[in-house]
Amino acid sequence: MKIYIDGKYYDERNARISVFDHGLLYGDGIFEGIRAYNGRVFRLKEHVDRLFCSAKSILLTVPLTHAGVMAAIVETCRRNKLRDGYIRLVVTRGPGTLGLNPNRCKSPSVIIIAGKIQLYPPELYQQGMEIVTVPTTRNLHSALNPAIKSLNYLNNILAKIEANNAGCEEAIMLNAEGFVAECTGDNIFVVKEGRLLTPPLSAGALYGITRRVVMDLAAQSGVKVDEPHLTRYDLINAEECFLTGSAAELMPIVKIDGRVIGAGKPGPVTKKLVTQYHALTKASGQPIYE
Ligand code: PMP
Repeated sequence: MKIYIDGKYYDERNARISVFDHGLLYGDGIFEGIRAYNGRVFRLKEHVDRLFCSAKSILLTVPLTHAGVMAAIVETCRRNKLRDGYIRLVVTRGPGTLGLNPNRCKSPSVIIIAGKIQLYPPELYQQGMEIVTVPTTRNLHSALNPAIKSLNYLNNILAKIEANNAGCEEAIMLNAEGFVAECTGDNIFVVKEGRLLTPPLSAGALYGITRRVVMDLAAQSGVKVDEPHLTRYDLINAEECFLTGSAAELMPIVKIDGRVIGAGKPGPVTKKLVTQYHALTKASGQPIYE
């Protein structure tokens, strides 16, 4: 595997960054998780745009232009002969001193890894998955806005551990007011009376790119889409539920906190969206090989 670091390509064992990098010392940095399908990078521009929004939020200057980041991602895929896979784009604050002040970090680092990801067991995509609500609430947006895709994922990791302790692969995270925010690495949707509902970004959800795609696909099929505040009651009493994420794609949810959702199997709206999503991922994106 060839890994991109600051304009150069390294073998896996030589791909290293400084132990003084504030990305490591403080989680000071940002990232994106992107998919390639069928020799194309899916929604590349949207991911790079979100990266730059995260960068702006934390006053981090990405040492490349939008076009430069996009070109580096495509070139990393090419060098790894990637056709279908997962791309991790990371920008760290760069090496500094042991104090947390970022003004001592003079050169942010850009890292691109083009590899594979297998988030959930394949059979769960057929049967649907069980999830639970966990005690750890999503970060307050006034403290660390969940819209920033930062390297500081402890909030989500703690929730993931709590899900694992309950025998689940994913967790529903509520916000401090008790409304549903999202899952640890995925956005959440329900179908209620034929309408597709997902929490608003202000509830503490990431501006998920898969979320946006799914909302657009639903609207195109004439399904009404709304972003109301949702409680656990709304989830439990929904007809269908599913998660979205670049890595997860669409994962049907059939049980929440011990309650069976709908008929206890992936529902018709979910299944149609899965089919539409797969068709779209195969047929669009930035070509890697001209
Ligand atoms: N929420 C969180 C907390 C995430 O980390 C992610 C991405 N892994 C998502 C939602 C889904 O976002 P996207 O569809 O852009 O991958």
